[in-house]
Amino acid sequence: MIVVMKPGATSEQVQHVVDLVRDFGLKDHVIRGTDRTVIACIGDKRAVDKGAIENATMVEQVVPILAPYKMASTEVKNTRTEVCIGPKKFPVGGKKIGIVAGPCSIESRDQLLRTAEACAKAGAIGLRGGAYKPRTSPYSFQGLREEGLRICEEARDLTGLAIVTEAIGVEELTHVSQSCDVVQIGARNMQNYPLLEAAGRQPKPVLLKRGPSAKLEEWLLAAEYIINAGNPNIILCERGIRTYEDYVRNTLPLAVVPELRERTHLPVMVDPSHGTGHAHLVPPMCQASVACGCDGLLLEVHPDPEHALSDGAQSITPQALVDIMAVLGRIANAVGREM
Ligand code: PEP
Ligand code: MN
Repeated sequence: MIVVMKPGATSEQVQHVVDLVRDFGLKDHVIRGTDRTVIACIGDKRAVDKGAIENATMVEQVVPILAPYKMASTEVKNTRTEVCIGPKKFPVGGKKIGIVAGPCSIESRDQLLRTAEACAKAGAIGLRGGAYKPRTSPYSFQGLREEGLRICEEARDLTGLAIVTEAIGVEELTHVSQSCDVVQIGARNMQNYPLLEAAGRQPKPVLLKRGPSAKLEEWLLAAEYIINAGNPNIILCERGIRTYEDYVRNTLPLAVVPELRERTHLPVMVDPSHGTGHAHLVPPMCQASVACGCDGLLLEVHPDPEHALSDGAQSITPQALVDIMAVLGRIANAVGREM
């Protein structure tokens, strides 16, 4: 349930309600808005004396949270969350749409630094690149691991881009959290609950990809695990789902973007690279994503896609990124956003 305080409630009056809520065995999350404070109360409500809370000074009303995902829901917070990322603190979820671009895998120092410079020049706000790769086959390239993270740090120093890289397990998360600006939780790990909880206990924002077979509600409950463990800075990323269709690698269900904007205050990015699997489909799906309200795009960019060690077929070139950015600016303006 949510306790809505009247405008002007003092911090002592809020604290009094928090103490009451804790007395009833519930966990509290205080959310201070511009004109009023709300206290989201999570836990078993059966032993709660709702009247006692309603009668506390400056309480306006006590309302139930209907969605199963509580803290991620717009029922608890109806203003958009801005997740600030990287050395420049770019606010993902604000008016400006942020592009995070870079290779699927970090293959070498030269490859990452060259790509980073090109992406920064094209107007990206972040650099993606996997140091630890969750590959379908154990014989495929598995990533440069810690060496890849050192190269990421160098790329950030060179360009000022926010580094977004994946943690494939709890052990890797420790290293990723220390080096990068945003911890990516990949599609295959969306329901790895110990990893979600560990991501909730570390300080960096989390980019949470949708599992290829996860429903929207399961995805938001995965985000809830991270918030519940202590980290509210989550960016959701749609990367396509598994369907019977095989002209694409995954089916990219863009209706999820406006649906998420109704259900959650968390920012939403789209990854049209994994969402289609084909470089020629990436530019039009970038346009569609911006048109339907995404807060950012995650794009695979490689200086030489034909020789990429992973996901070459869906990687665009740095020049294609420059071309996309020009078109996206016009679409963003048409829907009240900016690039
Ligand atoms: C990736 O971003 O390279 C990746 C492995 O993505 P996903 O988890 O969406 O498959
Ligand atoms: Mn990839």
